[in-house]
Amino acid sequence: MVGGGDGTGGGRHSEPSVHNSEDTEEMPIPRLSLVPNNEEVSSDSYDDPKLVYSSIVLRSLEKYLPPEILELNRNEKIKYMSDVLRKYISPEDCNKAQLYKNYREMISSYEPCYRGWYNFDPKLFLLPSFLEAISVNTEASFRRIIYEPHPSVFVFEMFQPDFFDKLIVEAETFRKWAQEKNYQIRRLNNTGNYGVVLDDFGLDIFLNKLTQDFIFPLCKVFFHELRGAMLDSHNGFFNEYGHERDPELGKHIDHSEITLNVCLKKQLEGGEILFTGTRCKKHMWTKYKAEQEMFRYTHIPGKAILHRGRHRHSPIATTAPRYRANMILYCRSSLFREMETYQKDYFSDWCGQCAQESKFKESQFLDTRREEMIRIEDGANTR
Ligand SMILES: [Zn+2]
Repeated sequence: MVGGGDGTGGGRHSEPSVHNSEDTEEMPIPRLSLVPNNEEVSSDSYDDPKLVYSSIVLRSLEKYLPPEILELNRNEKIKYMSDVLRKYISPEDCNKAQLYKNYREMISSYEPCYRGWYNFDPKLFLLPSFLEAISVNTEASFRRIIYEPHPSVFVFEMFQPDFFDKLIVEAETFRKWAQEKNYQIRRLNNTGNYGVVLDDFGLDIFLNKLTQDFIFPLCKVFFHELRGAMLDSHNGFFNEYGHERDPELGKHIDHSEITLNVCLKKQLEGGEILFTGTRCKKHMWTKYKAEQEMFRYTHIPGKAILHRGRHRHSPIATTAPRYRANMILYCRSSLFREMETYQKDYFSDWCGQCAQESKFKESQFLDTRREEMIRIEDGANTR
């Protein structure tokens, strides 16, 4: 599987080792300079595919080397810089990034059928009613076109009717093209054997604009836990289900803060999702409260749903013949992830379990206070 990373890393080469057992001892490392040295940069070349870290990174870091390191030979400098970099990005992650770069290069000759993906014109893709709501940019304007059948699950129409066929044709064409070239398509966990990653073959600009300019305003209003934090990365997928295509995913959460799921096409019955409550990392697999947290949603062609990535959900299996194509957009915020890591009381207003525990603690506190008050009153009465 391309991009999966087999951990081969770069430590096995004859080049200066950047990751071997001898390196694991912590050595005091001379500090990098705070100011780049743009004058005394060496003419050493780092254009060597065997190196774990790319020449661009090494060349940029070289400017910050302390003078005593800058005087060393090329291999010693690479060793020093790799030691520094390894504290921030592991050789395995580097290797994955390199594999992904190779993959993008391999498929770079694919030309999308629809050139409009490159030059995102909202009027060509989005419905006037949706554009109007976003331009007014208030909760009231959003609520006019969006309905919320269950807390924090929002359903709406946003795309022009011809968008759905365009996207299906593009995904099919890319798949056929890769097959003819004998290229193995990059798959991710949620794309199964027939899905494709839309960002890989020309839709990244389109999806980025969609995330920043149209999904982000909705998130600011409807998902308060983000506290206005930017959605700074995304992944877009095209998935197909049915016709012996993919086995359905079980109960899962998404690798996203917010997920947009658009039903492009559906034939016959099926296509239901069962939502079972939002949870923080710690409470991911705790039980759900059936009457409050269980919600069944049936996909409707042309409609999008927007929900938290941590809103647990699973497709409902059906034996009826069916076909469904969806576009799924995972929107992520690095700032939200930072806040989540460092703020322990962050979840009480959106994790079902945290909310329940916090309510329980509050009621225990009130009970104790009440008992204290009764004791004080009784004491006063018996005096
Ligand atoms: Zn929780």
